[in-house]
Amino acid sequence: IWDESERLQNLIQDLLDLSKIEHSEFQLNWQRVDLSMLTDDVIVMLKGKAKQKDISLTKVTEGSSTIEGDPLRIKQVMINLINNAIMYTPQGGRININVTETNEKVIFGVKDTGIGISKQEVSRVFERFYRVDRARSRNSGGTGLGLAIVKHIVEAHQGEIIVDSEVGKGTLFAICFNKKAQL
Ligand code: ATP
Ligand code: MG
Repeated sequence: IWDESERLQNLIQDLLDLSKIEHSEFQLNWQRVDLSMLTDDVIVMLKGKAKQKDISLTKVTEGSSTIEGDPLRIKQVMINLINNAIMYTPQGGRININVTETNEKVIFGVKDTGIGISKQEVSRVFERFYRVDRARSRNSGGTGLGLAIVKHIVEAHQGEIIVDSEVGKGTLFAICFNKKAQL
């Protein structure tokens, strides 16, 4: 019962959040954000969950990882992507997080050794309520809002998100953030 009520609370929170985001009723709180340090906070938060499934969670940072963005919103993006990686990766898998500096951007990537997403479905995972294989994922607790929220937050930052996945092998979600806000 407690599990159910927690799920319901999370669902309501996500729905409220998404409707605010979709109606542009949210303003980003622009600040300097160190993506590598923010990742560390999220890893501390989620490492217990990964450990329960014996999944390793590692991070590699290359170069400077400071951008301009909204730290709370970016943290929400990181939590959603890493939660997905844990949820859709079987026991004993690996999750590698990369924070990589390029000329004008910093790329945040989450790569897992999970179940993967087929070519037909990969374009749909950002739709609200869309879940691959509903029957099988019914038990895994999600509602299909996580990536819709991620996409809106990334777009508000004028960033880009890409997915590369292979069924049975794993999935990479990567976000390119501009170092400087394009206001
Ligand atoms: P929640 O709203 O709790 O996040 P969810 O995880 O089902 O629920 P999304 O995060 O939006 O929803 O993801 C949508 C669907 O995309 C998932 O149901 C799953 O089928 C697929 N998916 C997302 N991330 C991965 C991943 N790392 N590996 C495999 N499939 C994934
Ligand atoms: Mg999710």
